[in-house]
Amino acid sequence: MKLIDKVAYCGIYCPDCIHYQNEYSKLASELKNHLLEIGLDKYAKTKSPFGAQFQNYEEFETILSALAETKCDKPCRAGGGCSGIPCEIMDCCISKSYEGCWECSNVDSCDKFTFLEPRCGKMPKNNIRKIKKLGLDDGIEQRDNFYIWLK
Ligand code: SF4
Ligand code: SF4
Repeated sequence: MKLIDKVAYCGIYCPDCIHYQNEYSKLASELKNHLLEIGLDKYAKTKSPFGAQFQNYEEFETILSALAETKCDKPCRAGGGCSGIPCEIMDCCISKSYEGCWECSNVDSCDKFTFLEPRCGKMPKNNIRKIKKLGLDDGIEQRDNFYIWLK
């Protein structure tokens, strides 16, 4: 796969993402099926002096399903966006025939990146600036850490 195929329109490098070709989705799916098979949902929902620690089991099931379903086998560009859903940034770049936001002159003022900030901080825009300045190879080589907790 060429480098550009792994770099999203927003400057994210998909192989750094927790969802990219992850191991946890398969494990979560297996655990989900196993627990259903043995009826642990019914066990957890039955009020009893035993097993009080299962009282939030439905929340656990929701999270387990999310874990099972959030795998990206392909990077953003080939997969059609995060979890296969195009975001505003992707739509914008495609509508302008840009390979990525690094071809745009409005990066600093663009407000389409807000949804990425809680987990990624300024990483996408910083990566875009580096690609603009250094080119794709060196810009990605010098990319920011993916998540804010990795700083
Ligand atoms: S498409 Fe989105 S969710 Fe999937 S690996 Fe890339 S950044 Fe992560
Ligand atoms: S306006 Fe520019 S920076 Fe913002 S999403 Fe569109 S191409 Fe990217």
